[in-house]
Amino acid sequence: MKVLVINAGSSSLKYQLIDMTNEKVLAKGLAERIGIEGSMLTHQVYNKEGEFKIEKPMKDHTAAMELVSKALLDEEYGVIKSMDEVYAVGHRVLHGGRHFSQSMVINDEVMDAIRENIVLGPLHNPANIMGIEACQRLMPGKPNVSVFDTAFHQTMPEHAYIYALPYEMYEKYGIRKYGFHGTSHKYVSLRAAEILDKPLKELKIITCHLGNGSSIAAVKYGKVVDTSMGLTPLEGLPMGTRSGDIDPAVVTFLMQKENMTAEEMDNYLNKKSGVLGISGVSSDFRDLAQAASEGNKRAKLALDIFVYRVKKYIGAYAAAMGGVDVIVFTAGIGENTPDIRSNSCAGLEFLGVKIDEDKNNTKGQEMDISAPDSKVKVLVIPTNEELMIARETMELVGE
Ligand code: ADP
Repeated sequence: MKVLVINAGSSSLKYQLIDMTNEKVLAKGLAERIGIEGSMLTHQVYNKEGEFKIEKPMKDHTAAMELVSKALLDEEYGVIKSMDEVYAVGHRVLHGGRHFSQSMVINDEVMDAIRENIVLGPLHNPANIMGIEACQRLMPGKPNVSVFDTAFHQTMPEHAYIYALPYEMYEKYGIRKYGFHGTSHKYVSLRAAEILDKPLKELKIITCHLGNGSSIAAVKYGKVVDTSMGLTPLEGLPMGTRSGDIDPAVVTFLMQKENMTAEEMDNYLNKKSGVLGISGVSSDFRDLAQAASEGNKRAKLALDIFVYRVKKYIGAYAAAMGGVDVIVFTAGIGENTPDIRSNSCAGLEFLGVKIDEDKNNTKGQEMDISAPDSKVKVLVIPTNEELMIARETMELVGE
């Protein structure tokens, strides 16, 4: 049985076709510049060299899905004979708001709720809706499932998700902490339990998803009890271009001093801040490491600030859970950067965290990097959000 996984952005659409009998990715690709001049689709086939590129105008997501199906059915680069072979489609949807604590088979009611949550995810939810509608048009009658980035975090207790603002604002607008990267935090926490051969229900896990966007979650006995991102993905750790936690008074101060509108301020905090803002060099951690090694002080400062904040969240979440058994590092930085991992854990020996530097010298693969006498297991687990989406899709609509 094959599941198509779709991650639609405002001008892009990523896809993977996964054979669920063995969980192998048969093909994957990316449609870019949808609705913009120079649209292009890049398609890759499992175990086949090279990429299949189609440069063709795609005026909208439906046109992009038509090209995706063309690539999947192509004589040379195709992996299926007919779109009927696709059993179901799983969609990544950013914001499920208060409506969804789990994945859902998409029907009119679910679509209405995703639309209602556009206020909370104004950049992503409209694009996710376009992706769903394109699949419904192209493959009528096929089951579509929405897997929400926020859902896994819905187990947080009230005292973790309510902000100290007048309570009416929570009631009126749904202003609270929601958390993101839920599919990734769920995948790696399940995988950690598997690797350690222990029931998830007995583990206190801190999952560190460190990528372009970064978030940390405290997963106690299989349930999220706190996470670093908030109402939007701006809260928490400093990221590539996002500020993460700052004193909220800075916002009004800067708006007044620099004459910024709300929209400009939003852009400033989301696109110009983070490690890019601190360093003035780049949002990419590889560039920062390079610049720091060449003596750039602000690049080094950006890296120092990042690991300091990761460490503080680990400490906070160990306190929130009354201890920690496992720390997991995942996503672009977490999977590939030994320095960031060891510096984030340095000084946490008092918690029972001790890294084996030889084992830590690893990139992009599953690895237990804890020292033999470390009380806390420290694991590197490459995330796989697409597989998690496909699994959840099968759980809901599989035979
Ligand atoms: P996104 O949130 O866009 O999915 P990623 O999870 O791919 O982001 O993470 C991007 C970050 O990961 C970048 O800062 C990049 O420097 C870092 N990264 C990705 N791959 C590597 C690698 N092979 N070595 C070192 N750093 C990497």
